[in-house]
Amino acid sequence: MPEGKIIKALAGFYYVLSGDETIQCRGRGVFRKNKVTPLVGDEVVFQAESNTEGYILEVKDRKNELIRPPIANVDQAILVFSAVEPGFSTSLLDRFLVLVEFNHIKPIICITKIDLTNEEEYEEIQQYASDYRKAGYDVLLTSSETEEGVKDLMPYLEGEISVFAGQSGVGKSSLLNVLRPDLELKTNDISSHLGRGKHTTRHVELIEVGKGLVADTPGFSSLEFTDIELEDLNYCFPEIQEKSEECKFRGCLHMAEPKCAVKDASENGEIPSYRYEHYKNFLQEIKDRKPRY
Ligand code: GDP
Ligand code: ZN
Repeated sequence: MPEGKIIKALAGFYYVLSGDETIQCRGRGVFRKNKVTPLVGDEVVFQAESNTEGYILEVKDRKNELIRPPIANVDQAILVFSAVEPGFSTSLLDRFLVLVEFNHIKPIICITKIDLTNEEEYEEIQQYASDYRKAGYDVLLTSSETEEGVKDLMPYLEGEISVFAGQSGVGKSSLLNVLRPDLELKTNDISSHLGRGKHTTRHVELIEVGKGLVADTPGFSSLEFTDIELEDLNYCFPEIQEKSEECKFRGCLHMAEPKCAVKDASENGEIPSYRYEHYKNFLQEIKDRKPRY
């Protein structure tokens, strides 16, 4: 039986990409019994009735599932942050990074609107980029205006399902327009096609960009740490996790424990102090969320 990936769901049809063909499928068969509703991103087994039509027989197990946009098997999140307008926020970036890491999604940091920076701002951004690269992240500097750096995204997208994420107005749809100019996605500052607009009732669709698939609706509408526990946070800061192996106490949370290697590393500049500060803020946020006994 042929297999493929759902790239679009509309009016009771699932559009399944299989090789270079897109087959319009109806849902039928075993997965109905298991009450699985097929999602965009699902790997499916289907029966072809013609070159263009068929029906889905089976939905394969999912690696993960985003709620908004509703999409399964997300591999990567392109975290889009503008260098200016709005200004670069490490605390918002760290929040996104924690949520993405916690969901086992690979983050790629894309700092855009580079063309709008003055010399001083550009140097500052370079420093942040270097900090995040040192922590182990991929960081790209781009401009959708000059198209500088945008093509560098292509190799990262290959063979993966990617979701763009980031505040409204940072330039997510502008980036996609450079990558897929033929789609002519609308851009604006308040409620763009890719933005968190008020009337975004339309369904998510995976669009082909080079050899990858990208969701045309941004992910991570909620930035709450609802399911994250105190012990999880360590793993969402790779450089803190690495350093924590040198802490005296096993399970050190790097708050006030003695001989804490992470605290030392932030004091001597090995770990950027803002990263450690955000770690502590998030830890406090999770603590405050928990009921006290
Ligand atoms: P989104 O809400 O994240 O999808 O952001 P948009 O792509 O709609 O961009 C918001 C605004 O920023 C629009 O006016 C864009 O023209 C502008 N913009 C986006 N990227 C860039 C860029 O790299 N350089 C410049 N100069 N403007 C940009
Ligand atoms: Zn520690």
